[in-house]
Amino acid sequence: MLRPAVPWLALLICAASQVTGAATPDVPQVRVEVSRRGDDWLATYTFDRVSPVWMFPHSALTAETPRPWREGSWTIATRGVRLQRHGSYDVLSANFGRMPLQVEVHFKPVRDRLQADYPPALIFTDGSVALHVAQFDCFPMPSASAVRKLPSDLNNQFVPAAEVTFAFRDSAGPVLLEGRRAAVAETRDSGTYAFFGATRALETPDMIGILDPQLPGWIQESLTSAVPSLLGRYAQDLGRLKDLKPTLMVSWAGAAPGVVSRGGSVLRGLIVMTYAGAGMLEESEEQRQQGLWFIAHEAAHFWLGQTVAYEYARDAWITEGGADLLAIRAVAEADPSYDPRGELNREIEDCIRLTKRRGVASARDRGEHRAYYACGAVFGLVAESGSGRSFSKFVRELIDRNRADGVVTRAEWLAALDDATRNPTLGRDIVRLLDKGVSDPADFLADLFTRARISFETDASGIPRLR
Ligand SMILES: [Zn+2]
Repeated sequence: MLRPAVPWLALLICAASQVTGAATPDVPQVRVEVSRRGDDWLATYTFDRVSPVWMFPHSALTAETPRPWREGSWTIATRGVRLQRHGSYDVLSANFGRMPLQVEVHFKPVRDRLQADYPPALIFTDGSVALHVAQFDCFPMPSASAVRKLPSDLNNQFVPAAEVTFAFRDSAGPVLLEGRRAAVAETRDSGTYAFFGATRALETPDMIGILDPQLPGWIQESLTSAVPSLLGRYAQDLGRLKDLKPTLMVSWAGAAPGVVSRGGSVLRGLIVMTYAGAGMLEESEEQRQQGLWFIAHEAAHFWLGQTVAYEYARDAWITEGGADLLAIRAVAEADPSYDPRGELNREIEDCIRLTKRRGVASARDRGEHRAYYACGAVFGLVAESGSGRSFSKFVRELIDRNRADGVVTRAEWLAALDDATRNPTLGRDIVRLLDKGVSDPADFLADLFTRARISFETDASGIPRLR
């Protein structure tokens, strides 16, 4: 299995290769059943073959004080089997003799932030718990020394594959997985969280929201009033997602003094967030808008990123800039006090700074990832104003045209721009910014904006600012 470089995309692609009907001949099969009974958590692994070593690819170190996250949390209940660290990975192996075909593990959910991976668990103040499914992923390796030879980053590495079926059950009630609740919730897609608990959900035909009951009231209120309409608007404008219901899980990690913290990640059809700190108890307009903006950007990726993806990493401007502009428009609609011009002018400014004699496409080679967001949003403005229609209409058409293969290439984006604006000079200029940049980006953008009928004025340093 080749693991590609973009973390959330990696999860999607792994998922695609795992979501198959019948078992593939000769690919090792693993079933892991995870159950909660009161405060006891048990994971039971059943392997279809003997392997000296089973390796856990999700073995990152904790972010605060770096240590393997399973340390102190996972206890092997099966006699003769041990959990050890080899190189960058945790592995199961036998103390002596053969590895058994079934291994039981007791564990305590770990909420720590990890280095370059999702937190293994979100813990809610009412006792509900969401588990990152991929923490249970594993595959066979020939030896511990083979594990030690693997790099810490498996992106773009060929590693042995296994088909793992994950099953979750809770003695207290059904488990929520991939937008559905079931007594035994099963998936082969490790790129999501399974939710155990009775937290009352905010549910509409277009979304499910699990909000920690002890979240500060203003956060509850803001999310409850804005997120359903935001996701409803995306579903209406961009088309309802075919296979799952967008889900938001938000936990509260307590009001530690001197702390203001909001962390979050996006997975397939799922956004997970944790708010924390005494600084979050009082509402601020900035925190409210940033929280919504984060959700709006990440949720936009359910369509632009997950329903259709880019072809090469150098085309990330299509999905990142697109998600930025969709989010800016969505937040402005959900929160009337939000002025989109602040964010849009920052995008214009950054795009100017990052295209001076250098192209957007190669920005990642220079560590200038910001160029994909900023210039991608600027190109979105050109598509929006140049076509005289909303940006979501432009995106909807991109999605509909490319739903079959799930990829929007740069040529397809530019062709859609030509069709929508009937002005080929716009696409021609965008190609120049993508490939080489220009010597005077401010002047170049001002000219492009004029032809795209974007309303702006230039400031003292010649930078176009939206009116
Ligand atoms: Zn993004």
